Amino acid sequence: MSARSEERAGGAAAVDGADIPRALGASAAAPAPAVFTVDVEDYYQVAAFRSLVRRRDWDWYPSRVEGNVARLLDLCDEHDIVGMWFILGWEAERRPEMVRRIAARGHELGCHSYWHREIYNLAPEEFREDTRRAKAAIEDAAGRAVVGYRAPSFSITKRSLWALDILVECGFTFDSSIFPVRHPNYGIPDAPHYPHRLRTASGSIWELPPATAPLCGRRVAVAGGGYLRQFPFSFVRAGLDRLTRGERHPAVLYVHPWEIDPGQPRLAAGWLTRQRHYRSLGRMSGRLATLLGALQFCSASALVRECRKTPGAAAMPAEATHRPEPARGAEGAQGVAGSIE
Ligand SMILES: [Zn+2]
Repeated sequence: MSARSEERAGGAAAVDGADIPRALGASAAAPAPAVFTVDVEDYYQVAAFRSLVRRRDWDWYPSRVEGNVARLLDLCDEHDIVGMWFILGWEAERRPEMVRRIAARGHELGCHSYWHREIYNLAPEEFREDTRRAKAAIEDAAGRAVVGYRAPSFSITKRSLWALDILVECGFTFDSSIFPVRHPNYGIPDAPHYPHRLRTASGSIWELPPATAPLCGRRVAVAGGGYLRQFPFSFVRAGLDRLTRGERHPAVLYVHPWEIDPGQPRLAAGWLTRQRHYRSLGRMSGRLATLLGALQFCSASALVRECRKTPGAAAMPAEATHRPEPARGAEGAQGVAGSIE
């Protein structure tokens, strides 16, 4: 695994606008790499179904996650890609074999919380407890340290920047939760759209924002998930080209295992939620395969290593960069039904 990630990492990366490809002696035309990430959760755990599915009932739903993870692992093998798998702690506890299979196939493991709750709806102490429990579950299953974090529903926003401090305290060295877009349920629109280092009271942490690109006069999400399923494919492809070839910034992509599963049980959600969750599930695998074949990939850890070498990659204070608002709770009061994730 390390050989192929090392080899791919040698390609290109960029942080703070620095031209890493050229610094490494690569061709001036080399695009920045993409990083493939998976948020390992099942169809009944998504935020949009929360009013239908109680957490205490999760065990009653037919599990589909292992089969879908197996298909994604095969897809990665076909394209020789080392992915970062952000795993739900609840799943790691129940399916430690799945965690070990992902690791044994040469991939990297990250944490996607224990209960899949938005961070801005939690008190800091609840978040700390959830994070520690999830990290321990994944590490116990895999027998290795977990240092990358992705928040459920990208829920590190201006109101929950305090979470970065707790992530550092818990031993995480990078995070991929701050989506630099405007969205009703997540995002910090003015956050940097390239990898950057944030300073917290406990130390610094690298932030790897999901991919966005300048399209139609604004910054648009092209990172995968619902955006890859629901936007015209040519639009997403054009955006990723602008990001990796035009701006020469890395493209952090994501997918959920349930998004490649048209056969998943249908839950009786409202019309809009059903549209957004079930629409285009049948074409996601094909689109994903095309992207995996078209872009150059490196592992998340290789990207962070390249960023660390970049001159001028000084840590920015999270508060100054993102101008947090002290109040919390307002975002949590908004409904999440039907949002693109
Ligand atoms: Zn999730």
